Amino acid sequence: MTDLTDLGIAAIRDGFRAGDFTARDVAAAFNANIAAADALNAFLVKTPDHALAAADAADAARAAGDAPKPLAGVPIGMKDLFCTTGVATTAASHILEGFVPPYESTVSQNLWDAGAGMLGKLNMDQFAMGSSNETSAFGNVISPWRRNDGGNAALAPGGSSGGSSSAVAARLCPGATGTDTGGSIRQPAAFTGISGIKPTYGRCSRWGTIAFASSLDQAGPMARDVRDCAIMLGAMAGFDRKDATSLHLDVPAWEAGLSANLTGKRIGIPREYRVDGMPAEIEALWQQGIDWLRDAGAEIVEVSLPHTKYALPAYYIIAPAEASSNLARYDGVRYGLRDLPEGAGLQDMYAATRADGFGDEVKRRIMIGTYVLSAGFYDAYYTQAQKVRTLIARDFERAWEQCDLLLTPTAPSAAFGLGEKSDDPIAMYLNDVFTVPSSLAGLPAMSVPGGLDHQGLPLGLQIIGRPLDEQGVLNASLAIEERAGFVARPDRWW
Ligand code: GLN
Repeated sequence: MTDLTDLGIAAIRDGFRAGDFTARDVAAAFNANIAAADALNAFLVKTPDHALAAADAADAARAAGDAPKPLAGVPIGMKDLFCTTGVATTAASHILEGFVPPYESTVSQNLWDAGAGMLGKLNMDQFAMGSSNETSAFGNVISPWRRNDGGNAALAPGGSSGGSSSAVAARLCPGATGTDTGGSIRQPAAFTGISGIKPTYGRCSRWGTIAFASSLDQAGPMARDVRDCAIMLGAMAGFDRKDATSLHLDVPAWEAGLSANLTGKRIGIPREYRVDGMPAEIEALWQQGIDWLRDAGAEIVEVSLPHTKYALPAYYIIAPAEASSNLARYDGVRYGLRDLPEGAGLQDMYAATRADGFGDEVKRRIMIGTYVLSAGFYDAYYTQAQKVRTLIARDFERAWEQCDLLLTPTAPSAAFGLGEKSDDPIAMYLNDVFTVPSSLAGLPAMSVPGGLDHQGLPLGLQIIGRPLDEQGVLNASLAIEERAGFVARPDRWW
């Protein structure tokens, strides 16, 4: 019998409906893989019973002849940024230790309503701040990939959704939720040879998702291929009156609309994304991507996004500013940790709780954010960054006059080793150079695997689309996927 954990979301869904296997068998197989993969540290909480209960419900419904739900029989992993009723949710921060939400995030609820089950809560960078998973308070996630140099250096799975990327790449779940504020779905997908899409800002409700930078945060799926992402995104997205920024639009039938024929599409190549120091292999893969898209029928045009170089500095003002405000709520009163030294007053409790509860990177962001929002500096930094954000959005609007979609590399390098960048925040932030501009503009963007570098590590290509054109993004990504024929998998060492 095939190993059920080799199947992706579409294959599980279809095989389950056809009666090839039970949902319980699928859930049990993934639970077993997870139990044997503690070395990856991908899960903060395992919830095998949640997955089995959803599977049993799916099996019972199938036996009763009920119409199958879209994700019946499919178990998934849930990034620990999504609140889940009765299941500890910490955003990988010590300050939320002990917090068990009495409510469910809209995105996770949508997935359960679609029939999915939860295998567990996935490790991540603390409060989704980071690009390597090294800021988790519960130990970094380790990528299942290793360099082909015979060494066994532990590599970063990307971040912040590194538990999600590691778990999907290691066959611990067929799909997982991610969130993307400045690249946290796309960069970890690229590092681990999987696919991930950040939809248009507002497609997925932010309600019940722990906030990092509210004007940027978007949920999205991470899975083995484009079709699986289309299926999962269809279940996650939708209008939600509990989120004021949720788009009041129907969810398109993305899976049904999949087509790798790009005839009539114009793909823009932004010249400013050729950054100094980018490895020749990434440049070569980008060229390969251009050839693939042309082969799929697209016309290639060079475009200019002149304010690209200001995107990263603007992001690293706006995101910390919003974070400093959002994270003010963790004061030792309402959630998780409370440090109350003997005889301490209220202010002392706030200070002790926050000093002890937040990790260094989170504190760095709170300090930067507080600084750029303070009287006297507000106009010089925050207002200026907001203006730059508008200019970046305008760059994209101009580009859309010449093209329908954009092709870029996802990240400026393949996965790096744990510890290689963790003491240099600027080097870490530079990882987001290709993902941040589309986040600032709220655009849909996807990473798909394009190939391997000389070390045998995955590299991703990114497709960026117009607002609400997830279908165009998915279809161009599919055209790349079909031509790249990416089948490499990490050897199982864990
Ligand atoms: N790496 C970026 C940061 O640290 C993006 C994180 C994210 O998208 N959540 O802010």
